[in-house]
Amino acid sequence: MSRVTDRKFRCMKCNEIYGITTYDSVNVTIDYDIKERCLSGDIFHFECPHCHNSYMLSYPCLYHDQENKFMVWLYEDEKVIDAFESSFIEQLISLGYTLRRCTDMNSFIEKIQILDDGLDDRAVEFAKYDSFVDYIENKKRDPKEIEGIYYHGIDNDVLKINIRTIDKGATIMIPYEALLEEINNHKDLFGIDDENFPVIDSRWIIQIFEANQNIS
Ligand SMILES: [Zn+2]
Repeated sequence: MSRVTDRKFRCMKCNEIYGITTYDSVNVTIDYDIKERCLSGDIFHFECPHCHNSYMLSYPCLYHDQENKFMVWLYEDEKVIDAFESSFIEQLISLGYTLRRCTDMNSFIEKIQILDDGLDDRAVEFAKYDSFVDYIENKKRDPKEIEGIYYHGIDNDVLKINIRTIDKGATIMIPYEALLEEINNHKDLFGIDDENFPVIDSRWIIQIFEANQNIS
């Protein structure tokens, strides 16, 4: 079941108070309709019934896919609370679950897409890093022009990574299997412990490459 909380919210525009419903957790295996609302960001979208001002509101939310065995937890605060019983976590890990935490709404949605597509998110972060290097080195562009690097999908085993820049952007294609192999060959570097809901993002991959300048 999905768990919800009813809250009172004051509109930032007209100052009226009204009720909103936020999701503490969603189970997309039981409640399939909620999945699309997560992927579109709709669960974070609200509209004031008084002045019709619409906005996005981020809040802690746990996404659970029982069938594909993963959980993505949107929890922004760096001081992570012990939200789960350790026996519960152990049980999930023994079932082969992937557990991740995201620190913002957009990476939460992107992470769900990656895991829903059945991919190893470490390989996707690797691809995003490679795309960044390729863009800077081969296309001789200024890193400051880059606004964001996003996972766009996978087609015939080729990852599509979007680089968004101030003027336009580019899509970079990177073979998935080669990256996965690289990751599996360097378990010492890329190995992670799912127990603590690790944040696997650009900072995670940059840290690995900075600490190991000799790997390609
Ligand atoms: Zn309003």
